[in-house]
Amino acid sequence: MKCRHCSSPLEQTVLDLGFSPPSNAYLNETDLVRPEKYYPLKVKVCTNCWLVQTDDYTQADELFNADYSYFSSTSTGWLAHAASYAQVMIQRLQLNANSHVIEVAANDGYLLKNFVAAGIPCLGIEPAASTAAAAEKQGIPVLREFFGEALGKRLAAEGKQADLIAGNNVYAHVPDINDFTRGLKAALKPDGTITLEFPHLLRLIEQTQFDTIYHEHFSYLSLYTVERIFKTAGLRIFDVEQLPTHGGSLRIFGCHTESRRASTDAVAAILTEEVRRDLQTPATYQNFQTRANKVKDDLISFLIEQKRVGKKVAAYGAAAKGNTLLNYAGIKPDLLPFVCDAAMAKQGKYMPGSHIPILSPSALAKSPPDYVLILPWNIAAEVKQHNAALATQGTKFVIAVPKLTIFD
Ligand SMILES: [Zn+2]
Repeated sequence: MKCRHCSSPLEQTVLDLGFSPPSNAYLNETDLVRPEKYYPLKVKVCTNCWLVQTDDYTQADELFNADYSYFSSTSTGWLAHAASYAQVMIQRLQLNANSHVIEVAANDGYLLKNFVAAGIPCLGIEPAASTAAAAEKQGIPVLREFFGEALGKRLAAEGKQADLIAGNNVYAHVPDINDFTRGLKAALKPDGTITLEFPHLLRLIEQTQFDTIYHEHFSYLSLYTVERIFKTAGLRIFDVEQLPTHGGSLRIFGCHTESRRASTDAVAAILTEEVRRDLQTPATYQNFQTRANKVKDDLISFLIEQKRVGKKVAAYGAAAKGNTLLNYAGIKPDLLPFVCDAAMAKQGKYMPGSHIPILSPSALAKSPPDYVLILPWNIAAEVKQHNAALATQGTKFVIAVPKLTIFD
């Protein structure tokens, strides 16, 4: 296998999570009597460009099918994050009725609706049918396609280049990151700005966030590697911000290489930090499996112990990262009888692999468990706040990553 960016041979394994179904392949009751497809889930690092990447076993169209059911609007924290981003960008770039904003992976319109409300023309790119339909209902024009160089060039030919191209949590999810980046280049006006948000590899390594690894998440990105990928496509990173989202993300600001915009000190500062934390050193990646195994073992021990003493444990948040964790740990409904999720589209379905049923959050109130394991630990504060009534009845909240923690 070769590196997806620089084509160097990939020789160093970072983590082997065995076999797992695609993390968004939620099951209906009728699926439970049928065979389920499992794919190897292994992450490698390129020791030339330091792109951390999954082995390429599955096809994008197989992973993002019509039933893909993650709706961004179900997280109130994420909605607020999107609204504040839109407000800042409208001011910073002086966007108005003559501007054009494109969002790649527009999901259900959670972000672009803020630009629509401000009277700024926009276009969403969203291949998943169910979320695209939700975005269109909010008055957002949507192209139901995958983004890449061909689409970028077509948009340019149709006079639809953008002043702002936004991509939140899509860059790490594209199989061909070079083609996608060339698409950004093609669809950008000469003085346009690109912003991309992605989880920062530095946080994954430092916080043992191995559950953020799944098949649909092809790349685990540092600023150093993204800068290299941008440079190859004729783009340049001129600013970067650190965000608390998804356990620690970067928001990068890109422009054409020849743009006169000066680079901020923040870019140099993060590049220096990545070198200081040894992100370009093989040893950093060598003990990651041992660290991930400890997180897994601690969770299994906790669940077995609670079962032995007769305590009830339920989970909250049928997130992709939950599926990675549960499948790697081999946890089934005997240890974790159900998981609650606010997303209607997931309720009544089953977690892939573990076959743990997904119920409405009202199931927790009906019969309060002793512990609620919050699978999307990145929104633990939000989940605890929404379920404050449970805590008054004695329920405790637990997270497994970066280490097993029981909140009082
Ligand atoms: Zn490489």
